[in-house]
Amino acid sequence: MKVTFLGTGTSMGVPVAGGFKREDLAHDPRNERMRCSVWVQTNQSSLVIDAGPEFRIQSIRADIKHIDYVLITHEHMDHIGGLDDLRMYNYVLKKDIPVYTTDSAVKSIEKRFEYMFGENKYPGSTSLDLNIINSPINLNDLKITPLPVYHGDLKIFGFRVNDFSYLTDVKTIPESTKELIRGSKVVVLSALRWSPDHPTHLTIPESVEIINELEIPSAYLIHMNSYVDHQESNEKLPPHIRLAYDMQTIEID
Ligand SMILES: [Zn+2]
Ligand SMILES: [Zn+2]
Repeated sequence: MKVTFLGTGTSMGVPVAGGFKREDLAHDPRNERMRCSVWVQTNQSSLVIDAGPEFRIQSIRADIKHIDYVLITHEHMDHIGGLDDLRMYNYVLKKDIPVYTTDSAVKSIEKRFEYMFGENKYPGSTSLDLNIINSPINLNDLKITPLPVYHGDLKIFGFRVNDFSYLTDVKTIPESTKELIRGSKVVVLSALRWSPDHPTHLTIPESVEIINELEIPSAYLIHMNSYVDHQESNEKLPPHIRLAYDMQTIEID
């Protein structure tokens, strides 16, 4: 399995509109973070988790030729703003693109992209096949397990794809979900900033604590804000936990 980080930044992206919040971050391209999305490739499948406002640019940069499935973690714009850009992949797939997500994200997507759905679907608009999932499903050579977590009060999904677990916009992980994550070879977990605490996002130290509690051998942090320096942070982190950067690829056996 090959995983490509299409974006690793927080909701506003990094730098934010107007520039970096710490000028010294500009020297390192790894500090330029588009909105969070990841591309998973296996022998038989091409899967994307989340499609934010920069999805078109990200798909061109990563040279994504086709997409079989899309998983959506939750309905915030930094995770769904690029759903319209999936239109090109409709032509390649020659059918509706299967999307799997939460009940509340399905409702939100249908409302905010209402021109794509129902009897009045605008001719030629993106065709998505929205599916609510609440238990593991097998798609081709992928076993997808939804990982319910809390983003403040909002219940959202991370996803385990075979032995790879991807969780973004997390504040709390229920014990039952921790059991589903355990045994993953690689975990990706969101971490907004070093400090202070945030009501809806884990900080870097909080994420490190969870990764260590779950005894994950290799982990990557995403969804960092415009104050987090890549190099400086990695020097402070234990060696098995790294900040991810845009267009980084990892291989998982
Ligand atoms: Zn987000
Ligand atoms: Zn969010």
